[in-house]
Amino acid sequence: MITIAIANQKGGVGKTTTAINIATAMAATGWKTLLIDLDPQGNASTGMGIESGDRPRSSYDLLVDELPLAECTMPSNIPGLDVVPATVDLSGAEVELVSVEDRTARLSAALENHTDHDICFIDCPPSLGLLTLNALGAADTLMVPLQCEFFALEGLSQLLLTVERVQQRFNPDLGIIGIVLTMFDRRNKLTDQVADDVRDCLGDLVFESVIPRNVRLSEAPSHGLPALVYDHSCTGSRAYIALARELIGRLPEKRKAA
Ligand code: ADP
Ligand code: MG
Repeated sequence: MITIAIANQKGGVGKTTTAINIATAMAATGWKTLLIDLDPQGNASTGMGIESGDRPRSSYDLLVDELPLAECTMPSNIPGLDVVPATVDLSGAEVELVSVEDRTARLSAALENHTDHDICFIDCPPSLGLLTLNALGAADTLMVPLQCEFFALEGLSQLLLTVERVQQRFNPDLGIIGIVLTMFDRRNKLTDQVADDVRDCLGDLVFESVIPRNVRLSEAPSHGLPALVYDHSCTGSRAYIALARELIGRLPEKRKAA
């Protein structure tokens, strides 16, 4: 299984939207896909149609109580896509794990030798705390949604520093598979300028596929559906399908045989 953390310590940049829709696109392509909701807000779980009262096991149980992954996983309505949902207890996990010796390695231990899925996406919370560190510790690689706004690059440099520290301390092989520009608005000159700057600065690290600002993407979660199911032909869905195709092209050869 290849594990991809979707992280950016800024809130509202499109992490959860990207996690839900890229996971759905991969499942639709035939990859057995796991989506782990690691944000106490549980937006990825809700967006997948899993009501808060219908989460008997969660990522909290996985991290804090060290329950086996299979016990914390539940099927979604999408064939081939399973979910480890998040509950509000997870907000306490940061504190509860502080005094634990392997506090940044809980998730990687939980995912070790897991063969039931081909690919796993981890939806991270908007911080660089212990939950995100667990995701970065467990991940083979990182996908960074970046909203095209003025301070985007400054936030990114902080994230890249954290990645360097994680590489030095506990996950030397952590890669960055790509940065995805989100909420792109072609009518907005500033958005265009920021996108150009990001590409100048980071080159090929930036995915060619850009996710447009699209109201269908923001409506879908309130129906408990990925946008790709809610309206598969809207511009947002089409962008996520293109992104999934590009992602598959960037995965290491041996992992592509799904
Ligand atoms: P994060 O997980 O980084 O906090 P979300 O994916 O939850 O970000 O997105 C924040 C808000 O913006 C949500 O209400 C979401 O529905 C909306 N949103 C995300 N991406 C888009 C987009 N491309 N176009 C329009 N709305 C979007
Ligand atoms: Mg989110």
